Amino acid sequence: MTELLEPTPSPAAESELRSRFQGPVVGPADPDFDELRAVWNGMHDRRPSMILRCTGAADVSAALRYARASGRAVTVRGGGHNVAGIALADDAVMIDLSLMRDVEVDAERRIAHAQGGCLLADVDAATTAHGLACPAGVVSHTGLGGLALGGGYGWLARKWGLTCDHILAAEVVLADGSVVVADENRNGELLWGLRGGGGNLGVVTRFTLRLRPVGPVHHHTGVFPLADGPRALARYREFAEAQGNDLHAVGALKYAGQQDWVPVELRGKPALFLTAAWFGDPDQGPARTEPLFAAAAGSDVRRMSYAELQALGDHGEPHGNRYFTKSCYLTGLTGGAAGELLATAETMVSPLSSIDFEYLRGAITDVADEDSAFPRRDAPYIVTVSSQWTDPAQDRANAAWSRQGVERLAPWQYGGAYVNYLQDEEPGKVAEVYGARRYARLAELKRRFDPENVLSANQNIPPTSSAHQ
Ligand code: FAD
Repeated sequence: MTELLEPTPSPAAESELRSRFQGPVVGPADPDFDELRAVWNGMHDRRPSMILRCTGAADVSAALRYARASGRAVTVRGGGHNVAGIALADDAVMIDLSLMRDVEVDAERRIAHAQGGCLLADVDAATTAHGLACPAGVVSHTGLGGLALGGGYGWLARKWGLTCDHILAAEVVLADGSVVVADENRNGELLWGLRGGGGNLGVVTRFTLRLRPVGPVHHHTGVFPLADGPRALARYREFAEAQGNDLHAVGALKYAGQQDWVPVELRGKPALFLTAAWFGDPDQGPARTEPLFAAAAGSDVRRMSYAELQALGDHGEPHGNRYFTKSCYLTGLTGGAAGELLATAETMVSPLSSIDFEYLRGAITDVADEDSAFPRRDAPYIVTVSSQWTDPAQDRANAAWSRQGVERLAPWQYGGAYVNYLQDEEPGKVAEVYGARRYARLAELKRRFDPENVLSANQNIPPTSSAHQ
């Protein structure tokens, strides 16, 4: 019965696609199908009807026209990192941007043009060669597209703001296949929506990004036994909240590894890690970060390039493992909230999991709230309770641990959530994330640019219905 309801691709649509599409078209019978359909989170094992490996805006346009003509659902794959696996759906046409990874840097004007399928590493490699960077996330194999369109927290967020704040312009293929540019002079409202509204409004084939100067980074990490957690977390709160924007301090509760600076008695057990990165004059770094680590059981101090910093977390989040993430903003890291984080760490199901938290604010709040689609800029803290494991038999236990870890923070939750960390949410969560006014503005944009909700495999904002026009 279900099969009868499935769309039948029309031969005319298919031959139109074949005549226009320049890149490889990969189907279930092709040898590279399994490799190309895989996304970062191994939990999501779905089979698209075809993978259209786009080479530019014209291919994306042909792919969207084909999908609409043949009645197929569409997904868009940037870096494939979304924890909810929204780049992958059964029977859908996957618009794969992974061949579109060119970056051009105009060092004099401090801008970069980056294709929509870039990974953060592509942008970092091209820009740090010029002593420049676009602030972005902390794992360099993450896709620029999904990260930037949803917001983009990272090491430089306190100093320079979010990735979406650095989108100066975008070349966008709209759901009907037309190609437009959004910048301050053209389609300004679309640009507003791309700065935080996720993948709802079109497929971005080229970002123009503002770059910032970045030099060597002073990086300091320290480890604390869980028993010292309450004191160390209180110190973290006091320290992080007192810093200027040149310093970003983050924390993680996770199993300690075998690094020689980690005391032997802590290795292989859950522990608290605090890290401070100083982006000012590197010679001042030691004096700036030292006060956070006076009571650390062990610590590691290094000077590194920004690109090295960006790749530091890469090995801990490999492709293909199973992941489940729950996240929330916190009003503060009070003793009560800190106690709950430590209690969650003690019950960690998998030794690969982690609880990550950071104090935000800084330049994130320099952009006026109404100037972008990104909501809740003034959230003080963000926490993610991220399970990582390999055995499917452990799916339920790990998901429950992440879920409970965030639920027990309820008294301190700030409200909303970061759209790029949503996974397995109740209906209505996306509306809650954006808040009523911002959500209505995005739904109206959706009506203008994607009235049929062709791009719905995302944290979806359906178009305003005609009744509301
Ligand atoms: P994909 O799974 O490829 O795509 C997800 C969705 O993004 C698509 O369905 C589509 O709707 C949209 N999309 C992607 N590219 C485009 C495009 N060019 N045009 C239109 N829509 C597009 N986030 C942070 O803010 N800071 C971090 O430090 C951070 N670290 C992370 C570390 C890891 C290991 C992981 C897995 C995620 C991290 N994230 C972070 C979250 C990240 O921002 C999201 O997972 C984001 O969705 C990844 O983008 P992607 O292109 O790789 O995703």
